[in-house]
Amino acid sequence: MDDHKDFRILVIDDEAFMLKLIGKALHRLGYSQVFTCSGGQSGLDFIKSAPSPPQLVLLDLNMPQMDGIEFIRHLADANFTGSIILISGEDERTLQSVEKLLTSSRITVLGYLVKPVKPAALKLLIERWRPFVSARQQSSIKTYSVESVSRAIHNAELVNYYQPKVQVASGEIVGVETLVRWQHPADGLIYPDRFVPLAENNNLIDELSYAIIRQALGDLGGWQLAGLSLPVSINLSMENLKNLDFADAVFELIAQAGQSAEDITLEVTESRLVQSIKVALDILTRFKLKRVNLSIDDFGTGHSSLSQLRDFPFDELKVDRGFVHGAWANKKLHAIYSASLGLARQLEMTIVAEGVEDLDDWNLLRQSGCDQAQGYFIARPMPAQDVPAWVADWEIRRRELVAQASE
Ligand code: C2E
Ligand code: CA
Ligand code: CA
Repeated sequence: MDDHKDFRILVIDDEAFMLKLIGKALHRLGYSQVFTCSGGQSGLDFIKSAPSPPQLVLLDLNMPQMDGIEFIRHLADANFTGSIILISGEDERTLQSVEKLLTSSRITVLGYLVKPVKPAALKLLIERWRPFVSARQQSSIKTYSVESVSRAIHNAELVNYYQPKVQVASGEIVGVETLVRWQHPADGLIYPDRFVPLAENNNLIDELSYAIIRQALGDLGGWQLAGLSLPVSINLSMENLKNLDFADAVFELIAQAGQSAEDITLEVTESRLVQSIKVALDILTRFKLKRVNLSIDDFGTGHSSLSQLRDFPFDELKVDRGFVHGAWANKKLHAIYSASLGLARQLEMTIVAEGVEDLDDWNLLRQSGCDQAQGYFIARPMPAQDVPAWVADWEIRRRELVAQASE
């Protein structure tokens, strides 16, 4: 039981009575580092200022000021890497769907407890997971400092990987999406969810984007020399759309590389609320006027996908993979996927389905008349130098797929 003393637990609940009750139960189970907060904001402040943040947060979903889901979103923005147990008076089905909702964020949800919380259930849940949580915390999940991310940008440690995008009807390659990786000198390949939010929150996102765009333009030129025309899509963050100089800097990079705007697509996600619609609209409209293509990414998730469609001049709609993979077998997903398809048709936008992982997914796209596809079924993201060989392999697979379809 002595390693209990290194295990830090934060309990957040607006009811003082619940805090006391759970706190007591945890102490009885041998956990001495138990902290309590009576609301989301104070919980966030605690986590941000604690010398070592808690490994586990017990979170009440229904709180008056900041509800649990909102709290978790802020936690993700703050790069919290611990785990969460949800507590609520809601019925189990609601808790299940919230749990599912959260599995897409980096934060691990260990499970849920229904109020009134029974000490035995609490004990079971924590004991089942504590060794796993502590081990994970110590080893693989390492957080990075702002300085190290800034250094990575300037020392050219960021490398672009590329994932192909193909036409569904013909299988023809239409371009590649740039997905950044950090080739860390000691830790190996680091995925964007571990450092992009950090760059967003610390005014580094423009610099990060310039480095990625510069590289993508270089690779685009390299492929052209090899006889391949592969327009590139680049992910932007809403944070990029705050600074009016951003568009000019991007135009400058395109001109310097001797490339044309038509070969560039910018993918925008609303992972956070836009602070100024006016500035974002100004920047996006200028991109559009210069013939850069605009894509609304992760469609169906986020804060207000429909109002984004209304406000911004997008050419392409990317349906989030959460509504694509497995949609052929799931009524709800299928309905959302079809509605997105219909919306794109009516708005005369190109529709791209992400997360196409198997032949069943591919067949659904084919039968429903989706324009373009992207996903592991077609290819995983790869370094620039692997793209030409993949293009040759795909040509063979593509013929097979098209032949099968016409049988
Ligand atoms: P995204 O733009 O939605 O990119 C798609 C993500 O799904 C990528 O993860 C990709 O590797 C993954 N993926 C592709 N096909 C499949 C599939 O069939 N199944 C599944 N389960 N996953 C698939 P990755 O590379 O980890 O990127 C995560 C996110 O990081 C991206 O999501 C994007 O929002 C962000 N990101 C990546 N590069 C940049 C960048 O240069 N700038 C900014 N601001 N964000 C970036
Ligand atoms: Ca994207
Ligand atoms: Ca996406």
